[in-house]
Amino acid sequence: MNDIVDFPYPVPEYGAEPFWQACNDEQLVMQRCELCSKLRWQPAPLCTFCASDQYVWAPLSGRGRISTWTVVTHPVHPAAAARVPYVVVEVELEEQRGLRLISNLQGTDHDAIEFDAAVEIAFISHANGQKLHVFSLA
Ligand SMILES: [Zn+2]
Repeated sequence: MNDIVDFPYPVPEYGAEPFWQACNDEQLVMQRCELCSKLRWQPAPLCTFCASDQYVWAPLSGRGRISTWTVVTHPVHPAAAARVPYVVVEVELEEQRGLRLISNLQGTDHDAIEFDAAVEIAFISHANGQKLHVFSLA
């Protein structure tokens, strides 16, 4: 996939800056609670499992399985008009049951997509220099 010119880009919300900085290094990271060791997404000041405020940013493999997806055929933003059809995918990451990340799936015939298919992360560059996560079939 080529760079995304003039497509809306992410603006980090509370606590998400380390995630986007890691994307620029082509690494997937998420917060891991230092008390119960659970990973969480989205970033949050407190653990969603035990309410601890102690966490580290942990590197993840970037591997997972498709839990669901949709093929977008109607552009919901003018910048997406040249990109349709494209695939929005929800990936359950291999590190933890229920840990899911929404992204795009690239390089795949839409009819070949299946539930539970193995995927791996890749990174593409936005025109503004920020790298964005995408997935491909493994
Ligand atoms: Zn916890």
